Amino acid sequence: MTSTESAALAEPAGPHAKYLRRRSLEPGAPPALVPARMLNEVTYCERLMYLEWVQSEFEDNEFTVEGRAVHRRADQPRPLKKADPKRPPGPPDRAAADQGEEDEGEDEAPPPSTPPPYTARAVWLSSERLGITAKIDVVDVEGGTVVPVEYKRGKRPSVPEGAYLPERVQLCAQVLVLRDHGFRCEEGHLYFAADRQRVPIAIDEPLVEATLAAVVRARALVELGAIPPPLADSPKCNGCSLVAICLPDEVNLLRDGAREEPPAPPTFMEQLEHHDVEELGDDPWGLGPLQPAPEPREDGDRELRRLHPARDDRVPLYVKEQGAYVGLKGERLEVRRKDQRVVEARLSNTSQVCLFGNVQLTTQALRALLERGIPVSFFSLGGWFIGRAVAHDSRNVELRVAQHAAASDPALCLRLARGFVQSKILNSRTLLRRNSREPNAVALGELNQLARKALEAEELASLLGIEGTAARTYFGQFNSMLTERARVDEQLLLAGRNRRPPRDPLNAMLSYTYSLLSKDLTLAVVTAGLDPLLGFYHQPRFGRPALALDLMEEFRPLIADSVVLGAVNNEIVGRRDFVETAAGVNMSATARRDLALAYERRMDQLVTHPIFGYRISYRRVLEVQARLLGRVLTGEITEYPPFRTR
Ligand code: SF4
Repeated sequence: MTSTESAALAEPAGPHAKYLRRRSLEPGAPPALVPARMLNEVTYCERLMYLEWVQSEFEDNEFTVEGRAVHRRADQPRPLKKADPKRPPGPPDRAAADQGEEDEGEDEAPPPSTPPPYTARAVWLSSERLGITAKIDVVDVEGGTVVPVEYKRGKRPSVPEGAYLPERVQLCAQVLVLRDHGFRCEEGHLYFAADRQRVPIAIDEPLVEATLAAVVRARALVELGAIPPPLADSPKCNGCSLVAICLPDEVNLLRDGAREEPPAPPTFMEQLEHHDVEELGDDPWGLGPLQPAPEPREDGDRELRRLHPARDDRVPLYVKEQGAYVGLKGERLEVRRKDQRVVEARLSNTSQVCLFGNVQLTTQALRALLERGIPVSFFSLGGWFIGRAVAHDSRNVELRVAQHAAASDPALCLRLARGFVQSKILNSRTLLRRNSREPNAVALGELNQLARKALEAEELASLLGIEGTAARTYFGQFNSMLTERARVDEQLLLAGRNRRPPRDPLNAMLSYTYSLLSKDLTLAVVTAGLDPLLGFYHQPRFGRPALALDLMEEFRPLIADSVVLGAVNNEIVGRRDFVETAAGVNMSATARRDLALAYERRMDQLVTHPIFGYRISYRRVLEVQARLLGRVLTGEITEYPPFRTR
């Protein structure tokens, strides 16, 4: 057994570990082939490999987009090249040709016994014996020898080996697979697109050993079915495209807070003695300037690296114009009504599309949106969230298995539900304390008490009762957060919470903003790979997004209630915007538009995360919280970290 095989592997943790642990392969069944790219990933970061391969998570950043463009160029078929008679003997150097220049060598015929040199592109080979499958960008064949060429974005690093270990391991895997297919292959080349350099890489014994050890390690991690812990304070995370999914600093902080177990075992990378990360300098992976080292905070806690970007620069497109249709024109969405163009939106600037009532969307536009991962949400004319269209559901089956297992565990459901309800009560109390003209000490005290009781509730039914009592207390004080001017109009005041249909303007506004919020939380949980229909506090019922409603509890006062108060107190929406009918109170189209704008502004507002200390938009907060809930379900962290403001 190699040192790598013997490395301690963390067992799946948490109450649902038994569901997560993969069954051993059937005796005699062929083990999974490890893609050469995953050998690169497992050498760079074991967690990255697990996220990408096992959990099928993927997210682009500037590096992955650039890398894809480089590979697309590499895959382009080109005319077969002829041998250059002037070239000195030795390994072929085709950098010039790889840059698009064609050889202009004289047409001298090769000796009849030697087949002419040629280049094959996008060659896919596998070796059951080695347990490796590899897609090779380019294979140069000349005189009975083959040379695989792996394309990389960026510049050649200035290290004696010509490249960092993860890239060399990936290339070595290609060499080994070629050899296993009977080709003579002495070396491989890495082509660095940024400086157009082709670097020969020696396939020596230590590299072969590291590559085979990486195969063993990758298989062992997959077989175990437990996501490896995140790297701690590693500069590698700065350039990792999955940082917002992995949440390394956040997960480490939450794990450290609850840790009773010994520290995580050394990673595969740490065990490769001949490649010490510490010795590689300040920017070992060529990822550009690092963020400054985290400074200790005044309270002694460590400052976390900020999540980038702090907010989404793209904007949502709301279409409420009845009879309008949304079509595609080049790279833009075009909203038209009666053959008149109403508005245009670039696809690259659009974060989501929300359609209200009778608005048509062309197939071409829908396909373009889905291809770019831009979600489309459908609402009734009155603002009821009906459903959504997304390109693909998440392929993270492991997470969904964990969610389903957790949902059938009454103790865990109760624990999570207690936290959701307590946070909702405490955030309602904070809103009241901050915005009430004359804060009612009795009501605030009662909410405090109910928040405590929520944590002690012994069943979901009693938790529902506590939540109902807290809602009556909170909404009983809601009018105290309105300005004097708004309160003059008695018809505008909230007469307790009511809905379906709302019987006063404030209730109509609250229902509308809750609907928008449930849409965004549905999108957030789907993005995080969770099933929005399967909740822990809200029970599954007729397709309602129960999990989105669970997570929504803590955000209702902070986002929706706060938007309604701002709209009324700043006279953006007033009594004039409502019509009372036998079926309840209806909001005018203008009021809906203005309220949606106020809601989107709130979602875009930066807020300090109460646990992590960095500032991100509310929209990003929703996604972070959904992902952290996922980490609880897979047992990586033990408690859901609530989002509570002070
Ligand atoms: S963010 Fe860091 S710990 Fe997480 S997968 Fe990427 S490199 Fe690994």
